[in-house]
Amino acid sequence: MAERRYLLRTFGCQMNEHDSERIAGLLTSDGYVATEQAVEASVVVFNTCAIRENADNRLYGNLGHLRPLKQANPRMRIVVAGCLAQKDGGRIQEKAPWVDVVVGTHALPGLLELLHRAETEGPQLDVSEQTEVFPSALPALREARHHAWVSIAVGCDNACTFCIVPLVRGPQLSLPIGDVLAEVQGLARSGVVEVTLLGQNVNTYGRDLTVPDSPRRPLFADLLRAVNEVEGLRRIRFTSPHPHDFTPDVIEAMASSDKVCEHIHFPLQSGSDRVLKAMQRSYRRERYLAWLDAIRDAIPGIAVSTDVIVGFPSETEDDFAGTLDVVRRARYDQAYTFQYSPRPGTRAATMEDQIPKEIVQERFDRLVALQEAISLERMREQVGTTAEVLVEGAGRKGRAQGRTRTNRVVHLDGEHAPGDFVDVRIVGAHPHHLDGEPVREPAAVV
Ligand code: SF4
Repeated sequence: MAERRYLLRTFGCQMNEHDSERIAGLLTSDGYVATEQAVEASVVVFNTCAIRENADNRLYGNLGHLRPLKQANPRMRIVVAGCLAQKDGGRIQEKAPWVDVVVGTHALPGLLELLHRAETEGPQLDVSEQTEVFPSALPALREARHHAWVSIAVGCDNACTFCIVPLVRGPQLSLPIGDVLAEVQGLARSGVVEVTLLGQNVNTYGRDLTVPDSPRRPLFADLLRAVNEVEGLRRIRFTSPHPHDFTPDVIEAMASSDKVCEHIHFPLQSGSDRVLKAMQRSYRRERYLAWLDAIRDAIPGIAVSTDVIVGFPSETEDDFAGTLDVVRRARYDQAYTFQYSPRPGTRAATMEDQIPKEIVQERFDRLVALQEAISLERMREQVGTTAEVLVEGAGRKGRAQGRTRTNRVVHLDGEHAPGDFVDVRIVGAHPHHLDGEPVREPAAVV
C-alpha cells in the first residue's frame, strides 16, 4: 500500500507550534508520514493563528492555492485547525467548501475521528468550547530531540482588550503538577535536556486546581521547584508570566532552582498607565519596573525580553514617550515590537480613536531604532565572557547555532550536533546574536 503522507503548516505562537507537534503525533500514530510537497499529501493541515494581521487573508490565499490540487485529487483531505478555526468555525467551509475538516483548539484530540468521518460523511466541523483532553495526553512528534515544549495550562482568564486568546482558547485550565512531572520525566528519559513550560499566563498556573487533602492550591513556584528535581534535565525555561500576577515566591523559586535559566520574558505592552488601563492590563509602569529591579537583584545577569505594542487606540505622543522611557530604563536584551492593528472579535477593534497607519509606523520605527541600539549594547557587554551553549543546529555560513542559558543566540565554529553542550568564549556581538569560540575550561553563567 502506498504511504499516506501529510503536510503540516503552522502559523503563530509557541502554543501553536506545540499543538502542531500533537497534530503530527496523531497523524503519525495513524500511519501517516510527513512531506513538504502538497502534491503528494493525502492530508494537508493548516494550524492557524488569529493574532497576526491578515491571518484570514493568508489562510484563504493558501486554501485557494490548494483548490486545483484537490480538484485533481478528490481524495486529498484539507484540515483547518487552530485559533482561526475556533474563531471562524463554519464560515471557513462557507468560504472554502473544499475544506474537509475544521477543528478548533479544544477539539484537537478528535482530529483522526473527524478525518475518518470526512471520508464517509463529507465535511466535518468541531469547534466545541470545552477542553476534555489536555494536549499532553496526545502523542507528540517533536521537532528537536533535545528540547520540548510542555504545556502546563491552556486558556486565559484575563481579558486584555487587544487579545483574541480568551475567545479562542477559553478559560484557564491547568495540568496537575503530577501530570506535568510525569511528562517531563518521560522526556528526560528520552534524552530531552531542556524544556519550556508553556502557558498564556504561567503565574496563575494552578488557580483552577485543588490538591487532595489540602486547602492550598499548587502554585507556579511549586511547579518550578518540582520540575527542577527531574533527573537528566539541564535547563528549564517558561513563557510567559503576566506582570500583574508576578509574585516574590516565583523569583525565589527561579533564583534557587539551578536548572531554571537566567532569562525571563516579561511583557510590557505599553509604558503609559493610561494605555495600560485601556488595554485592561492591570499593572502600572512603576510597579512593572520595580518587579524588574527585584528580579535582577535576585538573579544577577538575568536577560530580559518583552513585547511592546505601538499605536494602541488613542495612544498620544505623550503615551508613546512613556513607552520609550520604560524601554530606556528597562534596558531589555530583546523586544518583540508590534504595530497595533485591530483584530476582529477583540474589544480594542471597536474603540474609537484608531491611530492612522503612518503615525503608528513612525512611532514603531523610533522604538525599533532605540531597542536595536540597546540590544547591541547589551550584547557587547557579553564580549570576553564565557558561556555554556546548547547547540540547536546549523547556523549561517556553515557554523553551528545554539543558545546560552540567558537565551542569547550564539554562532560558533566547529562540528557540533544538536543537543551538544559547548563552553564558548564570546568574541563578537550583533543586535540579535553573538559570535563564540569553543573553549576547554568550564564556563561561568552569562
Ligand atoms: S494575558 Fe492578556 S494578552 Fe495574554 S493571553 Fe491572556 S488576554 Fe491575551
